[in-house]
Amino acid sequence: MIYKAPRGTHDIFGVNAAKMSLLEQVARVIFRKRGFEEIRTPIFEDAALFMRSIGQVTDIVEKEMYVFEDKKGRKLALRPEATASLARAFIENRLGISMPAGKFFYIGEMFRYERPQAGRYRQFHQIGGEFFGVSSPAADAEIILLAQDLLYSVEVNEISAHINSLGCKNCRPALREALVKYLDSGHGLCGDCLRRLKRNPLRVLDCKIDSHKFTEIPQMSDYLCSECKCSFDLLQSLLESAGCNYIVDNRLVRGLDYYTKTVFEIRQDTAGSREALAAGGRYDNLVEDIGGQSTPAVGFALGSERVLAAAQKAKFFISFQESEKIYIALADSELFSEAFSFAVKIVKNGLRGNKNISVFGPLEDKNLTNQLKFADKIKACTAVIFAKTEFEKGKVLVKNMKDKTQTEISINEL
Ligand code: AMP
Repeated sequence: MIYKAPRGTHDIFGVNAAKMSLLEQVARVIFRKRGFEEIRTPIFEDAALFMRSIGQVTDIVEKEMYVFEDKKGRKLALRPEATASLARAFIENRLGISMPAGKFFYIGEMFRYERPQAGRYRQFHQIGGEFFGVSSPAADAEIILLAQDLLYSVEVNEISAHINSLGCKNCRPALREALVKYLDSGHGLCGDCLRRLKRNPLRVLDCKIDSHKFTEIPQMSDYLCSECKCSFDLLQSLLESAGCNYIVDNRLVRGLDYYTKTVFEIRQDTAGSREALAAGGRYDNLVEDIGGQSTPAVGFALGSERVLAAAQKAKFFISFQESEKIYIALADSELFSEAFSFAVKIVKNGLRGNKNISVFGPLEDKNLTNQLKFADKIKACTAVIFAKTEFEKGKVLVKNMKDKTQTEISINEL
């Protein structure tokens, strides 16, 4: 029996694992600069948490969640996204009490049963930030700019923030009514859309089958109440003054029900690319809806795999420095313990001032030719060879594995 990774999942190893770590490292620095603290929540939660927060009539809840029962019959779900988990953690750990304006970030795996294709997986990674406790659009602007900063920092530069406002509890009903009236007027909707029209008309705009039919949808901004309109105007002027490249996109609705007011997606400007690299929005009712105190909040998530693919095309990883591989070889096996302690020493201190090294060997049971073949296979840059004659003079042979030149160097100089 040959086992394979489940459909829609992939192993990340070698240089791709290093790039993923580098992206996460860059993200941690950027988040901390803005006062965000890391939070790690469970990979699975009570399935009802996601149903309640993301919404029953959404693709994620209807089609994409991995739901299972544990041995005690509890209905659990692998997290399809982390905002609901963070809101739950915010309430459960009373994080709002010690910090009235809490800023948190997370990095981790998400799970959605989607049809796998390029840039779309069943297990993927998101890096996201959530800002609780501030209702001012300044927080929305901070989140959008932070998401863009993250992309710029990996040299994904040709991007635009597509923004929209979905209104609040007060103005959404009128917007909804206008939308239902428009959508219901002879567009020949698919089965999913007909069902959603009644319960969640905003989601109809996102339909992969029907969305191209909706050419003249009602202008959402016409239905915003004065508070939502003011917030959206202020957001735009803040983004403008920060030099942010943004586009107001009347069709943007996002696939999750908890959003209020601002929603946004950051897309690459390349022709035809509709896939978002990052996305998010404001969710002022979610914390209260799942049992906490009324707390305004705004957040975003970026898809690490998609950002890495975009960064691959950008210059960022060209300058990416892999560590120098050092192979410790033995010409005489009786020097094994000396070579072994040398390896331990350079792992700690580096070699000739370079601390970005990966050390292999010594291996006890191979002759020198085989050890050097092994060094070639792992693409070692340098082999440090312990040989009796040189070692008695306090020296080792340092072999450049590219041009195969070899010099005697005093151990103390390394
Ligand atoms: P969402 O949680 O749907 O708002 O998505 C936020 C970001 O996560 C998107 O912009 C994508 O970059 C990424 N993403 C969402 N779903 C997937 C998936 N199935 N595979 C890979 N990346 C994804």
